[in-house]
Amino acid sequence: MSAVPTNLYDLTRAQLLARFEAWGFSPVHAATLWNQLYLGLIDSLSDEALADLPAKVRPKLRAEMSLGVLPTALATDSSDGFTRKYLLALADGERIETVLMRFTGRVTACVSSQVGCAMGCVFCATGQMGYTRHLTPGEIVAQAVHVARALRSPADAARSPTAPGERLRNLVLMGMGEPLHNYDAVMHAADILRDPNGLALGAERITLSTVGVVPGILRLAQESRPVHLAVSLHAATQAERAALVPAAKKWPLDELMAACRTYSETTGRRIFYEWTLIAGKNDTADHARAVGNLLRGLPAQVNLIPLNPTTGYDGAPTRTDAAKAFQKILGDEFGLPSTVRQRRGIDIAAGCGQLAIGA
Ligand code: SAH
Ligand code: SF4
Repeated sequence: MSAVPTNLYDLTRAQLLARFEAWGFSPVHAATLWNQLYLGLIDSLSDEALADLPAKVRPKLRAEMSLGVLPTALATDSSDGFTRKYLLALADGERIETVLMRFTGRVTACVSSQVGCAMGCVFCATGQMGYTRHLTPGEIVAQAVHVARALRSPADAARSPTAPGERLRNLVLMGMGEPLHNYDAVMHAADILRDPNGLALGAERITLSTVGVVPGILRLAQESRPVHLAVSLHAATQAERAALVPAAKKWPLDELMAACRTYSETTGRRIFYEWTLIAGKNDTADHARAVGNLLRGLPAQVNLIPLNPTTGYDGAPTRTDAAKAFQKILGDEFGLPSTVRQRRGIDIAAGCGQLAIGA
């Protein structure tokens, strides 16, 4: 028998109830513990944290289970106070980054799905560091809990430039790693995060961004998972895309677009297509028309992301006026809605594609 305790953040509510049942404890106690985990946001299994559980339950719980809280190794605030980046320590000594982003009226957590990433996109700091390992479901859930707990702290309320006392409302899987490369763990974590009795990050609150892992997109379509899908496109021809995104050699553009079409047809959902704007590389009027033609007839919205600097790539971001011109072509000539992603936390390297583990 393995003596490794189960991380409580790895369990759905139903799984927790089943464990309690197997131990001969009332499901009421499991429900109480679930509330403590995701509404009370306890950070240990101390007597104080477990005060609502009968004394006989606690020793069994501590013997069999652990609480995979991720200690903060470093927290950095952007100068405008809207973004806070956490470097979190995993139990095996690895580290990941999680970002708390405030917008007026909502707070979003950007969480990681892997330590590093195997996909090697040339402009991405995570890709530049290479792949170490997948995260467990509990390690993904723990990042969201970390942000939710931080939002409750008096120190956070004092620091917030927006209304204090906000709740975590949205979650994006756009941190370190490729979520569809770690499909099972990510979907299991999403099930836990969605639980209406817990963090309740329901159907419209979770967005997953993929580099274009075709089998993952098709599986997502089949399972009709209630998450939003964003696909990182960046180029509208196979050759241009493969130069930026090596994974395109494995999953070519035509296969990717076919998978996206299947996904939208099967689920009835629109896909967000991400386009990192790199000056002179993929931001001209011709490029805008190429993406307009590529997405013709698909339920789509384009998210334009001006390139954020990373040490391993010397491209420059598209200027605001050029980004606006790109957007205008998509809208006027193709009726394609688009947004230019607000640049967040660039001064603390917390922007898209800037996450890595500082030494
Ligand atoms: N692995 C997933 C999700 C993480 S990256 C994916 O690639 O989709 C989230 C988004 O940031 C992706 O669209 C990615 O292409 C983009 N990105 C990566 N590096 C960037 C950079 N330096 N500047 C701007 N966007 C970047
Ligand atoms: Fe991985 Fe996404 Fe970065 Fe590409 S952009 S290297 S897929 S994290």
